[in-house]
Amino acid sequence: MTAKIIDGTALAQRLRAEFATRAEALAARGQRPGLTVVIAGENPASRVYVRNKIKACSEAAFDSRHVEFPETVSTATLLHEIERLNADPEVHGILVQLPLPPQVDAPRVTAAIAPHKDVDGFHATNLGGLVTGHADFAPCTPAGVMEMLKSENIAIEGKHAVVIGRSNIVGKPMALLLLQAGATVTICHSRTVDLPAITRQADILVAAVGKPNFVTAGMVKPGTCVIDVGINRLPTGKLAGDVDFAAVREVAGWITPVPGGVGPMTIAMLLANTLKATERALRKD
Ligand code: NDP
Repeated sequence: MTAKIIDGTALAQRLRAEFATRAEALAARGQRPGLTVVIAGENPASRVYVRNKIKACSEAAFDSRHVEFPETVSTATLLHEIERLNADPEVHGILVQLPLPPQVDAPRVTAAIAPHKDVDGFHATNLGGLVTGHADFAPCTPAGVMEMLKSENIAIEGKHAVVIGRSNIVGKPMALLLLQAGATVTICHSRTVDLPAITRQADILVAAVGKPNFVTAGMVKPGTCVIDVGINRLPTGKLAGDVDFAAVREVAGWITPVPGGVGPMTIAMLLANTLKATERALRKD
């Protein structure tokens, strides 16, 4: 069996075109969706991510801005900036690009974002909402994965979903979204004993580990939907996911590529959350 590839680039493009139409409609009603990205320091990967986010926003007719701070920025300065953005009615979404420089109290800075502008979905209020099943904003990467499953009509209810990784930004929210959709969910991590025995039971397998070629064909049940969240830079400079794509493709039912899989969907979901925030602001007016 050769797996069907879920093309995240194409799906994200379709969604972004739809978002552009919705953004113009909101602008006509006096609220153009506005996203501000806060970036501190010179981390090259962060710079690329921010550039891609701003570009996607501009293409979808959003008002996108970014505020830059030097590597030496203090927690107080960033808190002051967040306060200013929280109060700005033209800013509907605020995203603080992580990682922040080491001297900055990053949890304090992200916690200062008003939950109704937390389009990354990392604020404790929104993460708590995921637990109770009433999140305003789900974190973008897991939300993007859910859209990919939906786009292929992949059954979730009653299925066994296995998530490898338990980070606050990917693994845990991913598991909660799958649980909310009716899956029986197993979360695996570095202390899990006999990981392959568990992954081989998965109907949906999500890898969010950060290690290239970590998921091998022997870890996958035939016909499984394999979602590769990993983004790893190989010594050759090429990007690779967490899944041994060539081998797993021959076993799985569906598979996502890297690049061109979950990555573009993450950005699309950032736009979706910003639209949602803008629509809410309009209703409040
Ligand atoms: P973290 O490093 O925070 O988490 C990695 C997880 O993998 C941890 O829970 C860790 O377990 C687990 N893990 C590590 N080694 C093993 C092992 N041998 N067996 C089982 N589990 C293991 O990473 P993130 O969640 O932030 O990101 C994961 C990957 O996804 C990265 O490659 C990242 O670049 C990518 N990513 C991609 C995005 C996208 O848009 N496509 C967005 C965000 C991230 P433990 O908790 O026990 O240490």
